[in-house]
Amino acid sequence: MSQAEAGASPGRPSSVAIVERIEHHTADTRSLFLRPTTGPLAFLPGQFLSLLLPVDGAVLTRPYSIASRPEDNDLLEICLNEVPGGRGSHYLCSLAVGAQINFTGPWGTFTLDQPPAAACIFLADGTGIAPMRPMMRRVLESESSFPVHLLYRAEDEAHLLYRNELLRWTRQHLRFVFESMLPTPPDGWTGLRGTFLEQVEARYVSGDADRGRHFYICGVGPAVTQLRDLLRGAGYQRRAVQYEKW
Ligand SMILES: Cc1cc2nc3c(=O)[nH]c(=O)nc-3n(C[C@H](O)[C@H](O)[C@H](O)COP(=O)(O)OP(=O)(O)OC[C@H]3O[C@@H](n4cnc5c(N)ncnc54)[C@H](O)[C@@H]3O)c2cc1C
Repeated sequence: MSQAEAGASPGRPSSVAIVERIEHHTADTRSLFLRPTTGPLAFLPGQFLSLLLPVDGAVLTRPYSIASRPEDNDLLEICLNEVPGGRGSHYLCSLAVGAQINFTGPWGTFTLDQPPAAACIFLADGTGIAPMRPMMRRVLESESSFPVHLLYRAEDEAHLLYRNELLRWTRQHLRFVFESMLPTPPDGWTGLRGTFLEQVEARYVSGDADRGRHFYICGVGPAVTQLRDLLRGAGYQRRAVQYEKW
């Protein structure tokens, strides 16, 4: 989905939310907990809000995934990192508790409502974990007994967001596997290293002939569509490879 498509809000008036709480994950990454003034918002795991941000006399439209579950419907969590030179993320990171944000939504088709009858593989890069958090919860809290596997890549260990929660899920759900990956790990790192493309090629393309898995991919830049193309080109069904490119 392009940024323009993602930010589109045809014909829908904007709503207002108040920043009720801010949680700092790292110096440049935080969660804003938003309370819509019109009451709880219904959405599907994976959907996003289009935030309308007043910056330098203009209104910037920026999409942000909802990192909380629909079941936690009184507060909407968005999780973002401040992009160097990025006007929208800089504005959001300057907000304090009590600030007001105009938004439209929920929007988006990168969703997981009914868990598929198949193993689910989540490939999250950085804050790309945000839409996947409620998606994975939806699968893990369902009757499904299929495996759920998260490969989570971040620039460094501190940016592996929600790590304690993800580790807790591995203890609560035997079918949940969480592996983390760093591009250039420190000494003593026992997780994965390298790129998604290498891992995915080795495990899910040349690794075996099973083509029944479902994939959910989210992150920034061309790696997302490269992964999509690798998997679909290897024989996975088009609808079984869902992605969101930021
Ligand atoms: C459907 C959708 C959902 C999104 N959900 C989230 C979310 O939950 N959390 C979040 O942090 N961002 C999310 N984004 C990205 C977000 O909308 C903005 O693009 C991002 O915050 C940068 O905006 P900006 O105005 O600061 O910088 P811009 O000047 O608009 O963008 C600068 C560059 O940063 C790249 N970029 C976009 N996102 C990131 C990022 N997270 N890290 C590094 N570079 C980035 C863009 O591709 C662009 O090349 C989402 C994007 C889409 C399309």
